[in-house]
Amino acid sequence: MQLKSILNRVARHKSFVYGTPRFIEDALRPTIEVPIHPRANGRPICSGCRKPRPGYDRLSERRFEFVPLWQIAVVFVYALRRVDCPCCGVVVERVPWSTGKGRLTTAYQWFLAGWARRLSWQEVASVFHTTWEHVRDSVRHAVRWGLVHRDLSGATAIGVDEIQWRPGHHYLTLVYQIDADCKRLLWIGQERTEDCLRRGLELLGETFCAGLRFVCSDLWQPYLKVLAEQAGGALHVLDRFHIMKQLGQAIDDVRAGEARRLKQDGYEPVLKHSRWCLLKRPENLTDRQTVTLAELLMYNLRSVRAYLHREDFQRFWEYQSPGWAGKFLDEWCSRVMRSRLEPLKKVARSLQKHRSLLLNWFRAKGTISAGIVEGFNNKAKLTMRKSYGFREYETIELALYHQLGNLPQPESTHRFC
Ligand SMILES: [Zn+2]
Repeated sequence: MQLKSILNRVARHKSFVYGTPRFIEDALRPTIEVPIHPRANGRPICSGCRKPRPGYDRLSERRFEFVPLWQIAVVFVYALRRVDCPCCGVVVERVPWSTGKGRLTTAYQWFLAGWARRLSWQEVASVFHTTWEHVRDSVRHAVRWGLVHRDLSGATAIGVDEIQWRPGHHYLTLVYQIDADCKRLLWIGQERTEDCLRRGLELLGETFCAGLRFVCSDLWQPYLKVLAEQAGGALHVLDRFHIMKQLGQAIDDVRAGEARRLKQDGYEPVLKHSRWCLLKRPENLTDRQTVTLAELLMYNLRSVRAYLHREDFQRFWEYQSPGWAGKFLDEWCSRVMRSRLEPLKKVARSLQKHRSLLLNWFRAKGTISAGIVEGFNNKAKLTMRKSYGFREYETIELALYHQLGNLPQPESTHRFC
């Protein structure tokens, strides 16, 4: 079997034929060059209007990198023609294997982008003997294509979340689709502001917002406001993950305050190393941490009381009816309000204030799975960790869309990876 036959099988182009491949020994790495010729009867296609037009002249030969074969680089060599187009003037022709710019063929870009979902970009670059920049460009190409071709119809539930992307107060706003049959990242905003989320929802469109039945977010006021204004028809559900996270932060604040006070009073800093054991649920504690917890319990510490209140709140999520859940919530809040634990009281006040939103969780029961926003949050963090070293916002944006956007790909005759 000849290489030409294989190429015709994996990447056949109607108006072009492959010439005889040659092996280049003296290149930096072993390379197969494949010349491409236009078919004699084919007229070049104008890259502007995409219509067949009379030829004008030919440019000098260019090289287009194709998917490598057995670690041997495969390069197409072709001299682009220019057309004389009555609409677009003298412009270069359109060829099916490349978008015109850049050195990589589209097949190779999809190939690299596919691997960039499985490995870090740096690893992809080193395995396939290419550069990090080429991998990034390939991902960019895949993401742009996917965003244009994705179908947003039928979305009924979204979750809004924020995630830190740089040290300091640098948060991204993320909008996920969280329908049972379709979970994906829909939109990323560079800030965590009211305007930012509003822009995102506007971009997703009025029809999209009108079709929403559930929106899910944390208690952050600006988000609540924008969601009420842009997706007023949807039932707003406060996300379990975010509420438990708030309680976790409150415990942490109580502990930090108490540690400071104990130290001032000359007591041993018992709480200094106990942060994780207070944040963890009892079943997740390791043996050593359990001992620490037992020691802590010997003091009637405020942190321990805060911890017990949080544990108590777990019961809230087990209710079936909004009525009983509401009754539990009221009792829990009044217990906390008597506790003299200021950070926890702050959370209780905010929960009470958003009582009806909180109870929507039980009205939406069964529709939105508890872990879904948390799951996305973890995956987004992992993606950013894997993209360690990405400094620019655009790169992080590309990586997140590529990893979590579940973006479509064009149909092709052959899948290279
Ligand atoms: Zn044209």
